Amino acid sequence: MLVHTQQRDHVCKFCGKAFYARTVLTLHLRSHTGERPYACHVCDFSHAHRILYVKHMQKFHPGEEIRTLAELQRLAAKATAEGGGPEK
Ligand SMILES: [Zn+2]
Ligand SMILES: [Zn+2]
Repeated sequence: MLVHTQQRDHVCKFCGKAFYARTVLTLHLRSHTGERPYACHVCDFSHAHRILYVKHMQKFHPGEEIRTLAELQRLAAKATAEGGGPEK
């Protein structure tokens, strides 16, 4: 039998809403702080939730790689740090 006795220990400091999981709270907090780490590299769309970013890519840029702006920047920085050449 299922027991729903999990405590909602993770409380939002902005609105007081409580969550079971820290990860869920973290996502929720972004709706207050405006942090949107999943930014589209094709247009200026960005979102706090990866799943919505992925849906955006599938709907608006079906041919594009599903990579966030941050991921692309990190890859570019890495390539620069390694001295360029994609060939080994
Ligand atoms: Zn909140
Ligand atoms: Zn886009």
